[in-house]
Amino acid sequence: MDPYLYFEGLQRLVKDVSGEETVHIGIRPYGFHAGNVMALIVYPYLLCKYVKRENKTPRFKFIVSLNDWEQDELDGPNPREYPFNIYPKHTSIYFLQDEKKCCKSSLDHWSPIIKKNIESLKKYFPDLEFTFVRNSELINYDFSRNLLKRTIQNPLEQFEILRSNSNKKTLPEPIQYAGAICPKCHSAHGDTHIGKNDSISWKCNVCKYEGNGPMNDFQYWWYHKPMLIARLNVFKIDLTISGGDHYSEGDFNIRREFINKFSPETREPRMLFTPIVIALDGQKMSKSRHNAEFALIEKLISKADNNFDAEILIDEELILRNIDEKDYSFDI
Ligand SMILES: [Zn+2]
Ligand SMILES: [Zn+2]
Repeated sequence: MDPYLYFEGLQRLVKDVSGEETVHIGIRPYGFHAGNVMALIVYPYLLCKYVKRENKTPRFKFIVSLNDWEQDELDGPNPREYPFNIYPKHTSIYFLQDEKKCCKSSLDHWSPIIKKNIESLKKYFPDLEFTFVRNSELINYDFSRNLLKRTIQNPLEQFEILRSNSNKKTLPEPIQYAGAICPKCHSAHGDTHIGKNDSISWKCNVCKYEGNGPMNDFQYWWYHKPMLIARLNVFKIDLTISGGDHYSEGDFNIRREFINKFSPETREPRMLFTPIVIALDGQKMSKSRHNAEFALIEKLISKADNNFDAEILIDEELILRNIDEKDYSFDI
């Protein structure tokens, strides 16, 4: 099965689906900039619009991942040059503070804003269903707990798949794709060891805390590529929608090989990749923390509709400035 790329891919995809599929989309829940909106609202909207034009009713069941087990920020020798030799700068998103200080965490601040906007798609396509799943809930599923364990114990087998299915450069170390987070200081830097009966022993490099406990009592960092395989298995995903930057990292082949190796009973999903959103500074939006902007969603949809480019350039007309993000919404 070939990947479905950008608007041309979307046009082919609407002929290949029934409208009843389970669709995966996901976000690192610490903002909701125009790049996020492309994969979470614009392309889902266009998918439904053109499925309807094929005389099928869009009844997609969306699984929306709120990626609280991803890193706060990627760190490593040089994450851009060596994207598979990476680790979290400090911690996982689960433990990020709310910058606005009004909620318990960044996750609690952004989740309602993300949910409200995605659920607005029901105004236009009332038969859609949305289920929001935090990565931290994955510990409750045997398959994903076992894959997490295997990721901690044997990162090299994943590194081999990443290396051989991408043209990115690699280093012999560091190679780590998951680990516990310190229960004391919330650092991701330390040693995670898996013992008998799914118990964890943890040694923190930062605060020096050492502790043991059942796997379920810890929080984790988990690299998104293996973690996606857990979600494909648990939620029986038929279709994934992701940003085009994932395609250029080799995700299409990597996902296929990860499925073959770790979850051979999982059917390979169809994969739709959206155009990459380019910010005013010419960089991918959110490449740095300072170039992310809110988009006028309805205008971004018009700009992406019938646009066959691999990149969509943001201009002043598409940017929404000076808003309270809690009021962020759209109307087509
Ligand atoms: Zn808040
Ligand atoms: Zn610590």
